[in-house]
Amino acid sequence: MKRRAVIKNIGLLSISGGVAGALAPTAGRTETQPGKRDLFKELGVTPVINAGVTMTFLSGSLMLPEVMEAINSTAHDFANMYELQDKVGAKIAEMLHCEAAMVTSGAACAMVLGTAAAITGKNPEKIKMIPNLPGPRVEVIMQKTHRYLFDQAITTTGARIVEVEGPDEMDKAFNTNTVMTLYFNAAEKSSVTREEFVALSKKHNVPSFMDAAADVPPVENLFAYQKIGFDLVTFSGGKMIRGPQSAGLLFGRKDLIEAAKLNHSPHEAPIGRPMKVNKEEMFGMYAALKTYLERDHEKEWQDWLNRIKQIKLTVETVPGVTGETHIESGPANAFPSLDLNWDEQCVKISPGEVQAALKNGTPSIVANVGRTQDGKPRLRVGVVLLKPEHVAIVAKRVRDILKKAG
Ligand SMILES: *Cc1c(COP(=O)(O)O)cnc(C)c1O
Repeated sequence: MKRRAVIKNIGLLSISGGVAGALAPTAGRTETQPGKRDLFKELGVTPVINAGVTMTFLSGSLMLPEVMEAINSTAHDFANMYELQDKVGAKIAEMLHCEAAMVTSGAACAMVLGTAAAITGKNPEKIKMIPNLPGPRVEVIMQKTHRYLFDQAITTTGARIVEVEGPDEMDKAFNTNTVMTLYFNAAEKSSVTREEFVALSKKHNVPSFMDAAADVPPVENLFAYQKIGFDLVTFSGGKMIRGPQSAGLLFGRKDLIEAAKLNHSPHEAPIGRPMKVNKEEMFGMYAALKTYLERDHEKEWQDWLNRIKQIKLTVETVPGVTGETHIESGPANAFPSLDLNWDEQCVKISPGEVQAALKNGTPSIVANVGRTQDGKPRLRVGVVLLKPEHVAIVAKRVRDILKKAG
């Protein structure tokens, strides 16, 4: 209801502001009534239409109206942060069918805190010393093909990553220094299945951690990994869950979540103190998750397909241009977008050049260049992060650029 009311409002404003006003350098933002402060303008920051996927450098996703409401309605009172983290965590754990949960400052923070928890438990001396613990370096086991940029969050705690290939090598890698195992859910190749990974971790009594940061939709993934038996799971808050960009979820085993909290703000000095989550982000993350779980996901998927159809119809008016729906196989970014093909003999522009023209135009539109199976580049127009009024803007801009080159 509320969301619909907001959308309706935006529609009205764009009429009263005039079409030109709506399209001017405000990325189709239509909330620029006279007298209203426009901080983008005030600071000269270029508003961007995101016709791609959630990207950290592009500010993640847009917070839902329910999240903004949670932030605004809670900003005017103080709260005890220990109590707030506990109560929000209990509610999130209930929603996600697991023992315990907490709000972190993103999935990368959840990785630091989860590893720290596995290292220190609730031992105050260890919590004080990490990442400078005496003795041999502790170890986290990962599959060789799962190594990725984000595993620096693991070694931030002082841990060393031990690479394995296949279940046998994994089995033999456990020793008294092993504190955790880490599974990168969206890795392209795995030599140990999720089930084997959990079973081996349990056999050696070592907590297993699942990084599924970007892995909704489908919504079912929010429940899948604790069900398999992972002890800790993280998802980003600021990707498709559409909470605050700087928030994330860490959930799973109660003793580990308790230990993770001891390594985090509002405690004064631990490793997680520089990764503070504020009160409004905690309320906002709770509201985002609740809204995400309650959404009609089938309808949302259909809306995305309808957007693709609308853009495709407009763009295909340029002779020689055809579009097709591309659905990323996942688990990350598993949603539909529009791939565009054209014969560069007739339409004399490359996908990369269209991408640059979109970015450098007004409003600035960020799209991606994907690749076909034989490695040919293609313009990939994302629809899931567009506001309703962006769809026609994006369609016309792509059409105009291609038409000019035709
Ligand atoms: C985005 C991402 C992260 C980092 O998440 P933040 O919420 O931005 O901290 C970690 N791992 C994977 C696989 C990601 O996609």
